[in-house]
Amino acid sequence: MPTESISGSCLCGEVRFEVDPPFEGFRYCHCSRCRKASGSAHAANVFVAASQFRWLAGEPLVKRFDLPGAQRFAVCFCTQCGTRMPHKVKSTDNMLVPAGVFDGDLGVRPQNSIFWKSRAAWYASPHDMPRSDEYA
Ligand SMILES: [Zn+2]
Ligand SMILES: [Zn+2]
Repeated sequence: MPTESISGSCLCGEVRFEVDPPFEGFRYCHCSRCRKASGSAHAANVFVAASQFRWLAGEPLVKRFDLPGAQRFAVCFCTQCGTRMPHKVKSTDNMLVPAGVFDGDLGVRPQNSIFWKSRAAWYASPHDMPRSDEYA
């Protein structure tokens, strides 16, 4: 686990933040909400105590959507480029940070996959298919 702050940013670069390790958790979530919100096979979510999280720039550009009827599910995103951004998890002291928006390595690896039974019908392990370093 690194001891230095780790930075993250959106695609357009207007929103920037940093977190201090250690993290509370790191997992893939295959639930249908995370698949919709990420537009992908699963979310890769890092959880960190809110006291270890700081916005560095662009916070006014971040919009929050709380899913009606959901206990905690929310997404935040940069209104300029649409990139998912961290958000405070309701009724907890944690921030959820989408792992893909960090700028460097985290020094830790995901611990588990949750909502595995909800995974997309088309989901296939990347290890079961040919892999290319760039476009195939
Ligand atoms: Zn942006
Ligand atoms: Zn989920």
